[in-house]
Amino acid sequence: MKKLIYILSITCIAFIHVNATPFFKGDDKNKGTGDDKKARAKRDDTTKFVLNEENLTENPDTTQLLFPSHDLYATWDTVSAHPYNFYDCFVGDSVTITLTNEGDGGFSMPFKGGITSEFGWRRYRPHYGTDIGLQTGDQVVASFDGMVRMAKYYYGYGNCVIVRHNNGLETVYGHLSKILVEAGQKVSSGAILGLGGNTGRSFGSHLHFEMRYLGQALDTEDFVDYTKGELKCNTFTLRKSDVETKYDLRALHHRHRRDVGLSRVDKNAGKLAKGGVYFIRQGDNLGKIALRHGTTVNSLCKKNGLKPTTVLRLGQRIKI
Ligand SMILES: [Zn+2]
Repeated sequence: MKKLIYILSITCIAFIHVNATPFFKGDDKNKGTGDDKKARAKRDDTTKFVLNEENLTENPDTTQLLFPSHDLYATWDTVSAHPYNFYDCFVGDSVTITLTNEGDGGFSMPFKGGITSEFGWRRYRPHYGTDIGLQTGDQVVASFDGMVRMAKYYYGYGNCVIVRHNNGLETVYGHLSKILVEAGQKVSSGAILGLGGNTGRSFGSHLHFEMRYLGQALDTEDFVDYTKGELKCNTFTLRKSDVETKYDLRALHHRHRRDVGLSRVDKNAGKLAKGGVYFIRQGDNLGKIALRHGTTVNSLCKKNGLKPTTVLRLGQRIKI
């Protein structure tokens, strides 16, 4: 069986080489021709590979082995950094991820350096990675065996490499000064992907390192002990509830803002605050408020530019 897999892998590699151009290469010649939309559409055509019944029947052996974790991801996309929606793709409540297996290349630190910024919400935006301090030109390596899915300049990431692994994870390496691999290339754990740098949204040389599962960024510190430079665990159970309460930073931020807003309303609701400002609480209407504060609906409407029929919002401030 092992021999068969080996032969199929070789066939697969040969297949990739033969087909490298149509599957993996963006058509950079189209860049800057003035017709960007058309050019992008063409690039999308040639770089997005969708596994479907048709191409599986065409070449059942090679296609099955073509991309790491092909059973989890429906597409292989060398253009977009994150085309996968976790909530659409994740089936069930939890999954146990085995990070390394006997016989594979194990884990390598992408760069052995100190953390300069952690996973979490930064002042205005989510930070879905862990920043590791380095000098421009330092070598950045692949964390596990895998295949390069994307290798190009990508918005805030700057020069960026994304590698898909057999364990289902994708790792992201951002702000590189130089990319030394291309999409479709097989890499072993520890293989050099590029040189560290300061490209994209970056202030000072560092590596922005992410681990994602089906598009959802996870906190790399849950996996990696940065002091020891090794994995904390070899199996990791990811629960949907962890994503909702810990990893989905944007959703968490919105929930937090809403909760803060509500707690302010709760604290003040129904009370007359400084300057005669009243915060609408559950069950309020203009008639009730007017009666409670010895005024009239007409007077409240005039002061607040409201109509007697205006629907009041919870937490809304009105002058009494
Ligand atoms: Zn970062």
